[in-house]
Amino acid sequence: MSTSSEAMRAVSPGLSETDAAEASLRPQSLAEFVGQQTIRENLSVFIAAARARHEALDHVLLHGPPGLGKTTLAQIIARELGVGFRATSGPVLQRAGDLAAILTNLQPRDVLFIDEIHRLQPAIEEVLYPAMEDFQLDLIIGEGPGARSIRIDLPPFTLIGATTRAGLLATPLRERFGIPLRLVFYTPAELEMILSRAARLLNVVLTKEGAAEIARRSRGTPRIAGRLLRRVRDFALVQGAHAIDRTLADAALARLEVDRLGLDAMDLKYLSRIAEHHGGGPVGIETLAAALAETRDTLEDVIEPFLIQEGFVLRTSRGRVLGEVGWRHLGLPPPPRAQLELDLLAQSRADEDAEE
Ligand code: ADP
Repeated sequence: MSTSSEAMRAVSPGLSETDAAEASLRPQSLAEFVGQQTIRENLSVFIAAARARHEALDHVLLHGPPGLGKTTLAQIIARELGVGFRATSGPVLQRAGDLAAILTNLQPRDVLFIDEIHRLQPAIEEVLYPAMEDFQLDLIIGEGPGARSIRIDLPPFTLIGATTRAGLLATPLRERFGIPLRLVFYTPAELEMILSRAARLLNVVLTKEGAAEIARRSRGTPRIAGRLLRRVRDFALVQGAHAIDRTLADAALARLEVDRLGLDAMDLKYLSRIAEHHGGGPVGIETLAAALAETRDTLEDVIEPFLIQEGFVLRTSRGRVLGEVGWRHLGLPPPPRAQLELDLLAQSRADEDAEE
């Protein structure tokens, strides 16, 4: 999903190599997991019920932008259910046999986590349907006229699928998840708690104001918060500072080109492109992707969700439109609102409702 420039971004919510370090920061239980309150409350009921009935938990679909805690939650669910956890991902599963091998090795009630489930091959989805619905595996053995189909019973299991956008999933697959959960961006207060906990685990002294500063600039995303904390910690070390306070965090983040609202050079390039080359839009996503040398997926999955939530940009049926917040952030006056723009705004809301 990430291009080279995307992989370089300090505020990219996608995984990068240094994020191996983040595994140690993963919360281990629902109680330790900060934020996503509705999801936590619902999950704890479903988990308790499944445990009481000694049944596999219904299949769970986690959707939301990268870095919000989908993998973490899947691991926590398995741990709280007291069952085994197997993980794979859509692009890794190339042949039906790959999935069959995993499914036949599951223990009763185990959790199978499939990351990027929207990227499953159609042939593998076909194998997944009866497995999810009836815990049965239909396999074709051999080829041509001699081919025969055999049916294998599977242990009851829980599939947890993760995707950046539920809209990318084939409808029959989406409908087989009994528990669809949508993760939302974290508030600065929640990120502050996550940062304080991470600082304790990393053995660094982080003041409350320092945490608030990093939290405010983490694009609502725990993975980014953790990454910025580690980078700011490097600055503190080199400067011989014993604590990360607001001044140090601010100076380090400025050096990392993360601006006061958490936007980086790529975000600003995206916003300025719409402002300067398209008069604020509407401009099509493909045009923007080509101009910025990014893939459409990177723009839609990684860059846009936060910008859209914060009103920097609006997604409309006719393309992207720069919002008032976006104009202000660029230090440019928004053009007077014409009827066309008001129509677009109304339309964009209708689109978003349709997408949910
Ligand atoms: P995703 O699978 O959605 O891309 P991850 O589950 O890999 O995201 O989370 C990225 C990192 O952010 C993890 O290392 C974890 O430490 C941290 N994290 C995510 N959600 C939380 C949370 N609610 N509380 C604390 N840390 C979190």
